Amino acid sequence: MKNAEPILQVRDLHKNFNGVAAVDGVSFDVASGSVVGFIGANGAGKTTTMRMMAGVDLPDSGEVTVCGFDAAADAVQVRRLVGWMPDSYGAYAHLSVLEYLDFYARLCGLRGPERMARVREVVEFSGLQELGARPAAGLSKGMAQRLCLGRALLPRPRVLIMDEPAAGLDPQARMDFKQAVAALQKQGVTLFISSHILSELEEMCDSLLFIDKGRIVHQGLRGSLCAEGEVPRTVVVEIRVAGMVEELFQWLEGAAAWTLTERLAGGAKAEFGLNSEQALAGELRRMLEGGLQVSSFHPQQRRLEEVFVEVLKARGAAAR
Ligand code: ATP
Repeated sequence: MKNAEPILQVRDLHKNFNGVAAVDGVSFDVASGSVVGFIGANGAGKTTTMRMMAGVDLPDSGEVTVCGFDAAADAVQVRRLVGWMPDSYGAYAHLSVLEYLDFYARLCGLRGPERMARVREVVEFSGLQELGARPAAGLSKGMAQRLCLGRALLPRPRVLIMDEPAAGLDPQARMDFKQAVAALQKQGVTLFISSHILSELEEMCDSLLFIDKGRIVHQGLRGSLCAEGEVPRTVVVEIRVAGMVEELFQWLEGAAAWTLTERLAGGAKAEFGLNSEQALAGELRRMLEGGLQVSSFHPQQRRLEEVFVEVLKARGAAAR
């Protein structure tokens, strides 16, 4: 992905609401065929940026170019190239899932047998086969996400922009979503996906963009936060044991890669120096082989805010 041509370019975007800068000079490229994670806390400016990328909103200044077309001047072409999946969708109460997709397929300019074939393809891809006759309004969160995905895919977009698509999904729906992302990337679709949770996107993205207060604060390939040495790649694990809690403390204090950070009634929280599933599995095995009766071993997800704080701290230290 590294050397791929940019399919989408964002240059110095600005957008103010009532005199407050929601997007404050954002620039980046999206490589063709890549999966980009767009990470930022609530209110950071993700939705506003993405709406301008999709041509749904116009910037106050700056430009978005998709396959060489300007999103403002060539809005029609850009809308054909870019699929937009908002974080909530307006469904019409009287339409079934199939009717809803058919309605949007008409809006995309698809007609006759081509329209029917495309709706069928999208239904199959998004796993909506069983839901065709169900009312489009009132679907569960996971089903509604599939419908939204199907709708966004109807015009066969080259770039798909998704606003918080994984929020609120149960583990199965999340896995289905990951698979859909992989399948779309295989088909050559470029994906741009936002979230306020780093761990939700980290695995499926080639590169990550961090936005804070309307500005890009970090961008790079997946893992670049650590590759650049900015953030130590550690993970905090909550470990519970049946009895033997003193032995657990001793074990952790005697292990070079672990730092005991908190003693709990039935266990401990400890930081492990290498955030890798394989390494963690090895450590769990060593604990069990060492005679500890581990009843639960739970690596804690790093919150976005923590990553930000670390990045910014590391930057401050480097600048001094
Ligand atoms: P979230 O994760 O909560 O959706 P976000 O990162 O997508 O947040 P935006 O929705 O882009 O952030 O909002 C950025 C800032 O712009 C926020 O302060 C928000 O209140 C403000 N904002 C966004 N849209 C509007 C609007 N239509 N009118 C006024 N202010 C707005």
